[in-house]
Amino acid sequence: NARTRSILRLMKERLSDYIMEILVSAGQVADQLGFGAYAVGGFVRDLFLYRVNEDIDIVIEGNGIEFAKTYARLKKARIHTYEKFGTAVVIFPDGFKIDIATARMEYYRFPADLPNVEMSSIKLDLFRRDFTINTLAVQLNAVKFGILIDFFAAQKDLKEKVIRILHNLSFVEDPTRIFRAIRFEQRFGFSIGKLTAGLIKNAVKMDLFNKLSGRRIFNELRQILEEADPTPAVQRMHDFDLLKYIHPELKPSAKLLSNFQAVKKVLDWHDLLFLDEEYLQWAVYLMVMLRQFKPDTTRAICERFEMASRYQVIFCEERYRGDQCLFWLRRNLPIENSKIYRELSEFRVEVLLYMMAVTRNEAVRKAISNYFTQLRQVAISIRGKDLQRIGVKPGPVYREILDAALNAKLNGRIKTRSDELNFVRNYVA
Ligand code: ATP
Repeated sequence: NARTRSILRLMKERLSDYIMEILVSAGQVADQLGFGAYAVGGFVRDLFLYRVNEDIDIVIEGNGIEFAKTYARLKKARIHTYEKFGTAVVIFPDGFKIDIATARMEYYRFPADLPNVEMSSIKLDLFRRDFTINTLAVQLNAVKFGILIDFFAAQKDLKEKVIRILHNLSFVEDPTRIFRAIRFEQRFGFSIGKLTAGLIKNAVKMDLFNKLSGRRIFNELRQILEEADPTPAVQRMHDFDLLKYIHPELKPSAKLLSNFQAVKKVLDWHDLLFLDEEYLQWAVYLMVMLRQFKPDTTRAICERFEMASRYQVIFCEERYRGDQCLFWLRRNLPIENSKIYRELSEFRVEVLLYMMAVTRNEAVRKAISNYFTQLRQVAISIRGKDLQRIGVKPGPVYREILDAALNAKLNGRIKTRSDELNFVRNYVA
């Protein structure tokens, strides 16, 4: 009862030879073992949306772990298996990874008001998923390679650009899907279907989220804040009255929304200049989101989120120091580069980006941007052993001398290595 059609042409057009080979050989291994094999989920969805997605999820009708072991042997790959869930990750020699799962029907309990109909195991596996657009599967077994399986009219919903759940109890089963609905809606420019939107409102009315741990809410929020542009999703969370699960006083004020947009601008600026520098995008946005709260409240929110303490310090300490620093800069600029450097070098990238985004003061923003593009790269070439050679006796004075040299370089008073050495000789004299 699935609509089937071949999407082999589409796959050949959109997928690299590398990915195609992985899929073809997976089908061959499944054939050897007598299993069904399917590529499923976001990978297939994104084929239709012209979006690059190399996160391959393969579902096996049969034994996913046995499949993964056989496949890994063939590919000289490593695997991690999770026996309890019947899942595995295959890691190829070049580091590329794919996920394998077993189509499980035995664990699935139908919600009480649904008829207990017969389903193939792949259909059941897909039925357990969140939204129709995520239920597409492509058969990988050799004779049927490229056959698209669409049990739940996913192609239609992709065409109509709607997010729909698969059955009315979907959000009761798993309220985190509400955040996922908003995330996908905004990412793809879709809209949440009428019935689905109604069920979200019901779920909020029934306070289903109170059963959800803070950790799971945080996990969903973090994923929303990792999207290319999280601003409209925040507005949407407000539409559905979801922000109260972060904190009852959280509202998408004009200030918060404009700060969110400012973060996006700053991050785009940063990413263009420093392509390789990694940072936690979600953390920059979350600092802005929690900006209205006093330290105690912020701490309580982080605790409820069960946030790791290495992250808590960002929100509970560093961002407040960042705000103090903004205040200080505003009152003291213009100052020498070396002073700007000493003020800003204590902050991690995330906090600096936050500071750039929230300041309303052009001079302050310029100072931070100058720190990013120039000052933080400045270093001196002289070391302790150079001081020894000049005849300075080792001790705490070394730090002082090297700091003074760095300051001079930051302030443009010295440039070359020989400038540095002259500077040190004068300084000591
Ligand atoms: P992304 O591009 O954000 O990774 P994705 O569709 O690949 O999107 P994942 O979060 O990686 O999403 O999940 C993989 C698949 O597992 C999805 O396609 C979805 O169908 C299913 N899934 C994930 N979370 C849930 C959930 N809470 N309930 C039901 N199905 C889920």
